Amino acid sequence: MLIPINELPPEGARFCLDDQSLWMLPIADFGMACTISKPLAASVTVIPSEEGCLVRGRLTGAVVVPCNRCAEDTPVSLAADFEEFESLPPAAGQGGGGDSGEESRIVMRDDLPVLDLGAICWEEFLLALPFAPLCRVDCKGVCPTCGANLNNGGCACSPAEPDPRLAALRNLKIR
Ligand SMILES: [Zn+2]
Ligand SMILES: [Zn+2]
Repeated sequence: MLIPINELPPEGARFCLDDQSLWMLPIADFGMACTISKPLAASVTVIPSEEGCLVRGRLTGAVVVPCNRCAEDTPVSLAADFEEFESLPPAAGQGGGGDSGEESRIVMRDDLPVLDLGAICWEEFLLALPFAPLCRVDCKGVCPTCGANLNNGGCACSPAEPDPRLAALRNLKIR
């Protein structure tokens, strides 16, 4: 979704990115294990300025991702606010190098600045995803030997681990 910045009114304009293909296509492209369970939507206000534009928005929806320990389906509800300033790219012809390294989401099209709002919302989506999602806080993960999901009880090769609280009690008794 490309927004021509110079066509925005000075007070800014509001955009709603709720076309699910906007999210589903990159999820598929990147081969991400992520299923949309509640439609994803970004409601974004873009306010132009002389140096670029302010992008302020809110991302909502829900996805299902694999648990970081046992790989079972883990629902993740998203409600992320974001705000960032996108600077105009350095003027063409000022000799390539010397930029800050931060890639601007504003590109020049026919000498006019255009904001790649879809790319910004995708980045915010990735930031909103938990780094290590867990199906439950005390997920026991899988047995390293046979791969059994230890949340469903022990497995044949590894006897169920003793409850650490009981172990602590046993230590107390020994002393
Ligand atoms: Zn788990
Ligand atoms: Zn096992």
